[in-house]
Parts: sequence; structure tokens; C-alpha cells
Amino acid sequence: MEIVETFSQARAHHHGAVGLVPTMGYLHEGHLSLIERARRECDTVLVSLFVNPLQFGPGEDFESYPRHLERDSQLVAHAGADVLFAPPSTEMYPEPPFTRVAVPSLSAAMEGRDRPDHFEGVATVVTKLLAALQPGWAYFGRKDAQQLAIITRLAFDLSFPVTIVGCSTVREFDGLALSSRNSYVSEEERPEALALSRGLMAAANAIESGERSGPILEAIVRTTAPNTEFSYVQLMSRRAVQRLETLTEDAFLAAAASVGRARLIDNIHIDVTPAGCEVDRGKRLTGPSILYGE
Ligand code: AMP
Repeated sequence: MEIVETFSQARAHHHGAVGLVPTMGYLHEGHLSLIERARRECDTVLVSLFVNPLQFGPGEDFESYPRHLERDSQLVAHAGADVLFAPPSTEMYPEPPFTRVAVPSLSAAMEGRDRPDHFEGVATVVTKLLAALQPGWAYFGRKDAQQLAIITRLAFDLSFPVTIVGCSTVREFDGLALSSRNSYVSEEERPEALALSRGLMAAANAIESGERSGPILEAIVRTTAPNTEFSYVQLMSRRAVQRLETLTEDAFLAAAASVGRARLIDNIHIDVTPAGCEVDRGKRLTGPSILYGE
């Protein structure tokens, strides 16, 4: 595997079907599942690693976000990627960009309400990656459901010749959705962190038993985790990222909470088919995550 720092060096490796996996590094099994899927489906697998300052708000953890290029490059190579594109910020933003990309109607709720400008930062950097690296396929986690909805829509609206592939959430063995920020959660805070996935799994059970009411599903999450202070619990349509009263179209049920200094988000992904609802709860690891390996 080669590590490159410029867009043109990355493009020079392209052959056949090109798959891109954008990340901010400090990789875990969630990221690796995206890379492994790209490996199965594409001829060239490109992983990008860039901690994007545009998507962090004032007072967020941009400076302290965990960075470890050597660790990450070994993991990316082991997962079978061909190229790791790790640009310095002078390559990504040679000058502060005058152009920003926004998908306002999908960005207003949930994470966007609590983190103004976050999704504009995400949409801008992903647009740059799609424009400059020209992948035919780009892989993103369902873990970040609102982000996935925004990226799917921007690729469609801007006519990028790319297929956006959403991949199941990977969870730690106790159910906590993997996130690089889980390294901020202490042993004492762990039970509170687990309340998110416990609540969502209870709602998944209810959906599978026939429950279709948005407010009731949201209440199930909250009552399963009575001691957690949620920022939100919402059943949202995947297409418009709007609250659903009733589960009548493809959706996600999402929850967010701050636990200590970690802001945690999680969701379940729900397909509505004529035969009924199919819930993707994600996949659990069978042992401890590599996040805690060193
Ligand atoms: P990040 O490095 O946090 O920007 O994440 C890079 C990509 O990995 C995004 O598409 C995320 O949605 C995805 N991702 C992060 N955590 C998980 C997870 N637990 N399971 C699946 N995908 C994930």
C-alpha cells in the first residue's frame, strides 16, 4: 500500500472500479468494515484520512481529536486498501475556501441543530474528495445517518457519477456503537453510554413486533434509558430528514447524548417494504475493539 499526500498522486493509482472510503483517522472496526467492503467490490481502494477543521465548531475537539498516522496506515494496509491519501491541510485547503457546499433542509435538525456549520464542513470536504478523486463508489457508515442522507443527496443534486454506499454500524461487544470518541468514555461512564444502544434495541424489538408510531418508538428509547439526558431521540425519514409520525417510509431512529466529554450518537436503520419493516441494528464485535489495543 502507498501513502500519498496529493490529489494527483492519489489519482495516479486509479485502475478499474475505484472505491473511496473517507475517514478522519484513529481507525476502528467500523472504518475497517467500510474498507473491507470496498475491497470486495472495487479494483482500486482508496482511503482518505483528513481531520477536517471546517466541520468542527468553536470549542469542539479539533485540536485534541486523536491522530496516529502510523497506527492507521498499518490498519488500512491490513484491511487491503491500495492507497492511503493523507493530505496536509495545504493540499486540502491551499487557501481558505470561498466556496461552501450546504444541504440546508437536511442539515437543520438533530446534529445540525446542536452543531451549526458542522454539515456544511462535511459537505464541503466530501464534495472536494468526490470532485478531485473521482471514485465510482464511496463508502460511508450508517452510524452517521444524517451525514449519509446529506452526502447521498449532494452527490445526486450535483450529478457526481458516484454510487454512495451506506454500510451497517459496527458495535462494540456490549452494544456501544464504535466511534473514535469512545476512547473519551471512562469505565464509570460506560453504563450511561450503553443506554443509547439499549434504548434503540428496545425500539427495534417493538418495530419487529409491529409498532409504527414515531412518538411511541421515541418514548421507548427514553424510558429504557431513564437516567440519560438525551439531546434528541427522533424517528426521521431518510430521504428528507424530517420527523415521521408513523413509520411509512425508509427511516432511521436516532439518539444523541453527551456522556462526560464524549458526544455520542447512534441509530437504527429501517427499511419499509411492502412485506413489512426491516431493521438494521448493526453488527457486534465478539471481543474488545482495537480502539483499546494500545
Ligand atoms: P469518521 O472517521 O468518524 O469521519 O468516520 C469515517 C467513516 O466511518 C464515516 O462514513 C462513518 O460513518 C464511518 N463509521 C464511523 N463509525 C462507524 C461504525 N461504528 N460503524 C460503521 N461505520 C462507521
